[in-house]
Amino acid sequence: MDPNSYKGLQPGLSINIERSNGSVHGATIKTVSLEKMTVSVEWTENNSLKGKEIDFDDVIAINPELSTAAVVADVKESILVRNNVTTQRQNRRTVSKIPGPREVPRFQSSKMSVIAELPNNLENDMEVETSASVPARSQSALPVVRPRTRNNYSSDRCSIQPNGNEVTEEPPQSLRIVSAAIQARRKSNIVKEMEKMKNKREEKRAQFSEIRNRRAQEFDSNCPNWDFARMVKEYRNTINCQSLSMNDPIEEHRICVCVRKRPLNKQELGKKECDIITVVSKNSILVHEPKMKVDLTKYLENQPFRFDFSFDEKATNDMVYWFTARPLVHTVFEGGKATCFAYGQTGSGKTHTMGGDFSGKVQKASKGIYAFASQDVFLLQNQPRYRAQGLDIYVTFFEIYNGKLFDLLNKKAKLRVLEDGKQQVQVVGLQEMRVNCAEDVIRMIEVGSACRTSGHTFANSSSSRSHACFQIILRKKGKLHGKFSLVDLAGNERGADTSSADRQTRMEAAEINKSLLALKECIRALGQNKQHTPFRESKLTQVLRDSFIGTNSRTCMIAMISPGMSSCEYTLNTLRYADRVKELPSNGTAGEAQNCMETESEEFEISREESDHILEQLSEDELSPHLSSFRDALTRISEFEEKAIEELKEIREKMNDCNYLLDIAEQPEYDLEAFVYQTQCFINEGSKSFLSLKETLDELTLAMQMEEQASKHLNQRQLQ
Ligand code: ADP
Ligand code: MG
Repeated sequence: MDPNSYKGLQPGLSINIERSNGSVHGATIKTVSLEKMTVSVEWTENNSLKGKEIDFDDVIAINPELSTAAVVADVKESILVRNNVTTQRQNRRTVSKIPGPREVPRFQSSKMSVIAELPNNLENDMEVETSASVPARSQSALPVVRPRTRNNYSSDRCSIQPNGNEVTEEPPQSLRIVSAAIQARRKSNIVKEMEKMKNKREEKRAQFSEIRNRRAQEFDSNCPNWDFARMVKEYRNTINCQSLSMNDPIEEHRICVCVRKRPLNKQELGKKECDIITVVSKNSILVHEPKMKVDLTKYLENQPFRFDFSFDEKATNDMVYWFTARPLVHTVFEGGKATCFAYGQTGSGKTHTMGGDFSGKVQKASKGIYAFASQDVFLLQNQPRYRAQGLDIYVTFFEIYNGKLFDLLNKKAKLRVLEDGKQQVQVVGLQEMRVNCAEDVIRMIEVGSACRTSGHTFANSSSSRSHACFQIILRKKGKLHGKFSLVDLAGNERGADTSSADRQTRMEAAEINKSLLALKECIRALGQNKQHTPFRESKLTQVLRDSFIGTNSRTCMIAMISPGMSSCEYTLNTLRYADRVKELPSNGTAGEAQNCMETESEEFEISREESDHILEQLSEDELSPHLSSFRDALTRISEFEEKAIEELKEIREKMNDCNYLLDIAEQPEYDLEAFVYQTQCFINEGSKSFLSLKETLDELTLAMQMEEQASKHLNQRQLQ
């Protein structure tokens, strides 16, 4: 801008100034520096003299009237005077007051005389000592006056003519130019303000990102969820965790439900997975569920769960056994039935806990609950208390896959489950191996485990889709005395595949879902001493039926959980399921399931219902006809499939008659009539069998079509 625009700025001139806090008030120009293009001003505030140095630009911006034509006109003279004075007094530090253009029309100004000299380089508002030579002035800061707009200018210049008409004075051309300059100046001020704000914002952003980076470094910046990891760590710092110790007492429970958290594995550590499980005490855990608000703020929802025992990642298989299966061994010797289930998502540690931990690829069968229980059985067998009973010990090991049983101690031979009129369930052909010592058992576990994870029937991963059941059976003179069933259940996430496009996967999923829900109901029925046990719902519960009934039956469920954030949803499902099996309040006093159920409050029941909503699909039967026909179709498929296989076996038997007939025909003198008759009989019988097989296959095909239709409808419902 042309420096001439600032020539109206004179020492002693009263102007408006803007303070750093945004307020505007009057001040008096003390000195003017043409070199620096600044003025120093003074004002009194709270009895003290203050001063500051301001750019010409800023003075004009806040006092636009100084750039009016009058100022411009006065410029030459004032410069002359100023220059003279400056020359005359160049050796003096004080610049005396130069008369200002008083005639210049002023919009907002306050009169203020210069009292004290201020250094030229004052940049900020500062206090100036009010010495004796500086009489205190009681002039206070003036009210805020904002720079005027162009419109203000026009209205200010509006006057009433003698005839009473309002006439708007058009500013002269020169004034319009100056006014445009002021406008531009104001704009540049706004831009300045905006830039300031932008800088502040950027500064804050930089600070925030620095804090984030610092925190990320503390938590390893490669960890994709380090902020959740930090929140979990911070939360953990606020609680005092006390894990279970071998010295803790073992309470006798008819139903015992525990949780075991495995450590993060190598892969998870490699991916810097965030551990979201905290084992708080010997019976409670917290799931720090990562959540995000709508405004993308991350937070944790800390969900407590309470069980009979909770095992943290440091717990060994020995310790888990000590509190879970070990107390049940006595029950078996007392002539009772015991069951112990490992429940959870694939990869959560079920097989590790039950079958033995892995050192590399080899499973140490001697370090799992199957082996520990067997060792204790032999110990007890030799105790004086039980020795006289003459108990023989046997083991069985089988797998339930897709509702069918396979013998793991007999090359996965398929087994048939029969139920007699008295609802006694028999597994036909299951090998019961007599064992005399713990080493015998370990060998059996090794054979069975190897058989489970190999073979032609399924891919290796099938172990996650099947339930493995290891049984220790006590017999007295051949008669069943007690039975301990240890079950490594199918991965519960497999039950969610019912909408798969592949029939095999769909059927497996439905079967897993059905069996896990039936198992839960059977255990609950056991806890409530209910007469009716819904064991027929699945092959698993059907086979274990005798263990769920009778007064001397006890069960234990170990819910296995993976600690990683990516498993959170399944972990919560696992915990809700386990919670439902035996309802212990997540806080408050411990109590047996029965007591708990008797005194269950309404409030408690609601939250249970919520979790039921997630888990219970059995109850959907009434709600969804498609689900019910899907289930019916599955039942029919398995019935007709079994029938077809039986009929085919019969046909194979009958085909042996073919050889017999051929033998007859090869005799030198054979009875032709008998041959014809017998062959006709063979054809009749064979035709009947073939026809029957054809009918069964037709039924099977129909059931398969039904299943497909029902599953399509189910999928559509899920998509809606
Ligand atoms: P699941 O049978 O539930 O599918 P696994 O028992 O096969 O799971 O465990 C998955 C992996 O995690 C295995 O490599 C196993 O050795 C390891 N693992 C499981 N639990 C533990 C544990 N408590 N300590 C150390 N490693 C474990
Ligand atoms: Mg497994």
